[in-house]
Amino acid sequence: QIKTEIIAVGTELLLGQIANTNAQWLSQQLAKYGLNVYYHGVVGDNLTRVEETFRSAHERSDIIIVTGGLGPTDDDLTREGFQRISNLRIVEDQPAMEKIISYFKKQNTEMTPNNRKQARIFEGAHVLDNKMGMAPGMIVSFEKKTWIFLPGVPREMKYLAENEVFPYLQEMTGQSDIIKSTVLKFIGIGESRLEHELYDLIKNQSNPTIAPLAQNDGVVIRLTVKAKADEEADKLLDLTKQKILGKIARYHYGTDEQTVEEELIRLLKQAGKKIAAAESLTGGKFTERLVSVEGASQVCRGGIICYDAKMKSDLLGVSNEVIRSFGTVSKECALEMAENAWKRTDSDFGIGFTGVAGPGQMENKPVGTVFIAVSDREGKHVVQEYSFQGDRTAIRSKAVLKGFEILFN
Ligand code: ATP
Ligand code: MG
Repeated sequence: QIKTEIIAVGTELLLGQIANTNAQWLSQQLAKYGLNVYYHGVVGDNLTRVEETFRSAHERSDIIIVTGGLGPTDDDLTREGFQRISNLRIVEDQPAMEKIISYFKKQNTEMTPNNRKQARIFEGAHVLDNKMGMAPGMIVSFEKKTWIFLPGVPREMKYLAENEVFPYLQEMTGQSDIIKSTVLKFIGIGESRLEHELYDLIKNQSNPTIAPLAQNDGVVIRLTVKAKADEEADKLLDLTKQKILGKIARYHYGTDEQTVEEELIRLLKQAGKKIAAAESLTGGKFTERLVSVEGASQVCRGGIICYDAKMKSDLLGVSNEVIRSFGTVSKECALEMAENAWKRTDSDFGIGFTGVAGPGQMENKPVGTVFIAVSDREGKHVVQEYSFQGDRTAIRSKAVLKGFEILFN
């Protein structure tokens, strides 16, 4: 098994000023070429630490791809770092040097001496012509390991990777397998319960692999398959997908990029029904998610944000009787909110959210107490009581998600 490692050099990455999108992109692409990435590393512009990082990569990996630190300034230390572990001589690459000189001539600006640095390559390196910038990339074979140096600028890095590096690696590894993955999404089932249901499948399945992950919107399962060709990959993925759905289809709402709000809109459109929400603690979050989907206007007329008690009666017409007897954080209030939501907007479904988002308790109900009700034109209704953990933001998001879950059931 060939082990690939990606190292990004740059203090700005460590400081969190930029995200390491180079590693993300490279990993995604390498997977398509059947190369498994075992490690991602990030190191600042510090010679000792660059050296250390390179040294451990050299020990544990077969292909090491380094991005960044090839530029003209003093803090670009990739070459120096690699020289320390390899003792390879650094020489000036004539074509690269000429390119730099002519660039400055064309710009009619004086070339500062540090720019010569960008033309420096390791002796014997396979030089990658950087048509998008100055510093060339390099592929260096050293002690049976393949070191690949690419510029940090994402556009230049991608250009060199696609045009030079990937073809080179494919030839080198004789690897023609492709890796494909898909994500199945579930709502209304917890991660441990899902793992339990799929225990045998997960244990006995190796291609595709099945990996459950908890995510913001419920649980997802990532299937990753290795195959000779695209069709074969699709077939294997589909087979496993069917096996999984055979066990937990009722919680499945989407695949890959699909969201719960998109799925709800799709279902409502299909049924020719409209929905409206009455939102207290969620403050419009539920409606906001619906409306973010293209074509939401066909199924959503609007929503009513009725945060305090007076608004619940004035805007939505929740009876004072209910508020007085049960409080606004109650089953009864949630139900009336849901019912009045569809009535007032002439919709088919109404959903009502009321609860205590915190930080303090309300009406003697502890933080996290939430009631969600759904009511429809035909007189059917459900109301659920929850006690969510977490801070205000978490409680409000969980309430919205539960709303979707109730509607799917
Ligand atoms: P240059 O010749 O432009 O100096 P370089 O090879 O020295 O290129 P860096 O100086 O490390 O590369 O990075 C140049 C720019 O590329 C950074 O300012 C940053 O915006 C971007 N960049 C660097 N590394 C990454 C990374 N890992 N992911 C995303 N962007 C990056
Ligand atoms: Mg730089």
